[in-house]
Amino acid sequence: MSADMLASLKLVRSDIGAERPRLMRAMLLACGSVVLDMVPIWAVYRLTQMLADGSATAAGVWPLALLVAVTIPVAHLLFGLATRTSHIVAFNLIHDLRLRVARQIARLPMGFFNDMRSGKAKQTVITEPERLELLVAHAMPEGTSALFTWFIVTGWLFYVDWRMALAAVLFAPVSFILMGLAMKVSMRETEAYQSASNMLSGAVVEHLSGMAAVKIFNPRGVIGSETAAAIDHVASMQSEMGRKFVPLGGTFYALILANITLILAAGAWLLQAGQITLDVFLFFVILGGNYSAPLMRLFNLFHHFAHISIMATALQEILAAPPQPDTGAVLELENHDIAFERVSFAYQDKAVLKGVSFVAREGQVTALVGLSGAGKSTIANLIPRLYDVTDGCIRIGGYDSRDMGLDQLMEAVGFVFQDPFLFTASVAENIRYGNPHATDAEVEAAARAAQAHAFIAALPEGYATTIGRGSQLLSGGEKQRIALARTVLKDAPIIVLDEATAFTDPDSEYEIQQALGALMKGKTVVIVAHRLHTIAGADQILFVDAGQIVESGTHDALLAKDGAYAALWRDHTAARGLGLREAADAS
Ligand code: ADP
Repeated sequence: MSADMLASLKLVRSDIGAERPRLMRAMLLACGSVVLDMVPIWAVYRLTQMLADGSATAAGVWPLALLVAVTIPVAHLLFGLATRTSHIVAFNLIHDLRLRVARQIARLPMGFFNDMRSGKAKQTVITEPERLELLVAHAMPEGTSALFTWFIVTGWLFYVDWRMALAAVLFAPVSFILMGLAMKVSMRETEAYQSASNMLSGAVVEHLSGMAAVKIFNPRGVIGSETAAAIDHVASMQSEMGRKFVPLGGTFYALILANITLILAAGAWLLQAGQITLDVFLFFVILGGNYSAPLMRLFNLFHHFAHISIMATALQEILAAPPQPDTGAVLELENHDIAFERVSFAYQDKAVLKGVSFVAREGQVTALVGLSGAGKSTIANLIPRLYDVTDGCIRIGGYDSRDMGLDQLMEAVGFVFQDPFLFTASVAENIRYGNPHATDAEVEAAARAAQAHAFIAALPEGYATTIGRGSQLLSGGEKQRIALARTVLKDAPIIVLDEATAFTDPDSEYEIQQALGALMKGKTVVIVAHRLHTIAGADQILFVDAGQIVESGTHDALLAKDGAYAALWRDHTAARGLGLREAADAS
């Protein structure tokens, strides 16, 4: 990734159109406040002129004092209004950008996020757009007013005396060059720093999400070598940045403040030669000192541009990434049979499925069984196109699923994930995610069907209880049942259950099976099975081994075959028997 100085402006180019008048107003207000800021300086200049020609009287000073008293608060008011306006523009732009990024992320293939460490993804998508605030809300009005002040002051200095003006501005070109150099260094260093900091966020997120394991295996909290290395690296990068930046920044500040020595020297010389009057000399001492302030403000702003440009480039990469191909078509399906035809699939370059073919018929239950890591979940994930096949094709109702619009496909498939994701929202909202138009009664009916109503009713606020990330209220099995209720409510013709009952206790498992029986009637059901006894009645069992289907048939047919499935079933029943005996011994 190479950062582009103008990336941040390109990023919001399409959103900025509607905001342009407001942005212009902010800039004009900022310029207006700059002009008013000059009035007190002009008043002092007038005063020195009056002193020099002996015309200073109380009557002459009062109007000046009054003018200054009025302009100072008005200048601040104008600048405040400018900042307020630019903040509104910034928040609108950030809002639009966030929406655009969210929409784009929903359209990207899952594979895009696989190689993005979670820390980086979070930083880029959530935290980074905030930086736009710095650019639009602060840098634009402050930068405009700083540049405008600099132009006005320079013009004024030359208007009063060009020789003194030359002395005042002599160092300016050098400081501009230094500003450019500092910006370049900043860009380069910040880019490296940012990627180190992303690594660190990724490592910390991992550390936090694995907190239970950390507590049990590592009670003293010894930080893993990768996290420790990331922390060290970020620290050394920070000092490296300082080491490279300080000489440039130091020289800039020294030069920019040194112009007063030139003003004093040139002024003394011209004064002695009788070329200028005392009031002109004083004017340059006062205004020449102010001359450096806007340049310093610009320098500080430029420093931030590096950060902003880098985030803008990262966001642009996401926005420019090719979305998952979507025909948008709505096809007339004859049925909802799913047919895998010689499907192969690889995560990046790791081949997982090799030539998988099977048909899951409408109205039937197809179960995928096999050892862990065989590729069962991967087969399930390919059905709603969470990933696209590497080779072969998946047909739904006779059509290649890639020819079907993603909206139609998503509507056709209900999916219960192995580790169900609940949003931070009420229970009702979480269930309603399956069908935003469902009434409260329908939500409750779905919860009853998923055997979730009883525990939901016992929650502190029933269906209005907030659950989600960090919520300690629900057990794994309860979360699973809320996810099931969501799928019941969606009432899609194809249902994929990825070990959906893995967390449920034996008591409610029976009830869930009953509920599922009703839910699954007439649908195409694909179950990734963990507990073999739950799928013994399936119409078709597919045994997956190392990314291939090695056996298929009904439970009885596979037992009669006495192959891999029969062996797995024997292990399973032996283990269950053992479990039951232990339970009996304990009671
Ligand atoms: P199963 O469901 O049978 O346990 P999976 O389909 O989850 O198996 O995994 C099959 C293989 O694919 C495993 O080797 C697993 O490590 C790998 N795998 C699963 N998900 C990913 C992923 N997102 N990126 C890379 N490899 C993955």
